[in-house]
Amino acid sequence: PMLDYKEKTKSSERFMEEAQQVMPGGVTANIKYFDPHPVVMKHGKGAKLTDVDDNEYIDYLMSYGSLVTGHGHERVKKAVMDQMEQDGTWLFGTPHYLEVEMGKRLKQHFPSMERLRYTNSGTEATLLSLRLAAAHTGKHKIAKFEGHYHGGYDQMLISVNPNVESAGDADTPKSLPESKGMHPAHVRNTIALPFNNLEACKQILTEHKDEVGAVMIEPVQAGFIPAELSFMKGLRAITEQLGIVLIFDEVKTGYRMGLGGAQALYGVKPDLTTLGKAIGGGYPVGVVGGKEEIMMHSAASQGSDVFDSSTSKRSSAKDVLFHSGTYNGHPMILAAGMAVLDILEKDLGAALKRTEALKNGINETLRKYGVKGEALGIGTIFSVILNNDGKVRNYRDLQQTDLATRKEIDFRLLNKGIYIKPMSRYSVSTAHTDEDINKTITAYDDVLREVYGG
Ligand code: PMP
Repeated sequence: PMLDYKEKTKSSERFMEEAQQVMPGGVTANIKYFDPHPVVMKHGKGAKLTDVDDNEYIDYLMSYGSLVTGHGHERVKKAVMDQMEQDGTWLFGTPHYLEVEMGKRLKQHFPSMERLRYTNSGTEATLLSLRLAAAHTGKHKIAKFEGHYHGGYDQMLISVNPNVESAGDADTPKSLPESKGMHPAHVRNTIALPFNNLEACKQILTEHKDEVGAVMIEPVQAGFIPAELSFMKGLRAITEQLGIVLIFDEVKTGYRMGLGGAQALYGVKPDLTTLGKAIGGGYPVGVVGGKEEIMMHSAASQGSDVFDSSTSKRSSAKDVLFHSGTYNGHPMILAAGMAVLDILEKDLGAALKRTEALKNGINETLRKYGVKGEALGIGTIFSVILNNDGKVRNYRDLQQTDLATRKEIDFRLLNKGIYIKPMSRYSVSTAHTDEDINKTITAYDDVLREVYGG
């Protein structure tokens, strides 16, 4: 398939040669690169993308899930333009009514967010949530799960994609750094936990209860490996018991498991929630919200508002939880976000059904060719897992699956006009039609015939 791929994407290859002269790897985020070169896109509309060689694709990357209403949705576009037209400017640097309007709607869908703040990305949202948790508990270590991603900063770049051999025992995974240049202290300050293993988590957290202020979790790992309900409930109980703030990082799952995110689906209430991606429908946004007492009155703030910056009310700088951001609550982005929510309140149900149809179609095709595997996921995200012995319940199980064949299948799909970055998860949008889904299943059938014969 690689020869066909190179043949089809010659202009992408040429573009990337030029891009390498400007940016390391020719990309603005490592994840956007893959060998031999990524596809370079130039146009998108609905569920379709067109690359610089004029190849057309049905897009399932959907910009890592953020484009929940697809590319270039007219209603989102109009909302942004209208807002600019109405306001005259596109940024005030003062409070703006959309911050409150959007916030009220978010609170309706995520009742656990009694108060919230906006950021410009998921990364900033999770970062702020860690400070809130530390301020509330006075405890500065954090715990996260092996294989879970919360943003690209030192504190959380621990055991995201670790070499399992170096990480040691599955029940007591070692914290491993993910990047060159990270401060070595984070290997000690961020504790790695095994996902879907309640007993092991209980032991580790109990042992470190006096230092650990927060546990952050992707309720559905990487958007497609669900936490088991008993695990989720158990984790909620143990963190509450040990005085640890439980943070649901719903940057991927927000709106994608239903409008109330994973917390609504599980019926489990976190102390803090972080949102991003789909909330802006492709515009950069992040949200942190949660319990009033954590958002407003942390232990460290000695009764004054955590966020209060009025100097009269505080005795020293350390009574205030610092949060800033020139672009936080940007009116253009919130206007887009409001339109996205309008669309989803009407159309998300259909997108959820189409995702089920696509997963079922892929699963039937896998069975047809006698391939052990499954389309795994809930909501509008899933991934295709091959050669899994039993269920994939965590990062280590995933490493045992047939990743090489998965990659080959992805390149063959690319050659047939189905776009995901090889090895990525699939995200379905409200713009995907029944026809798109059927075409994708047919492409899957063709590809599995090529790979497995029959
Ligand atoms: N948390 C999760 C669960 C994510 O999936 C991501 C992005 N992949 C982030 C945080 C970081 O978000 P952003 O890329 O907007 O900074």
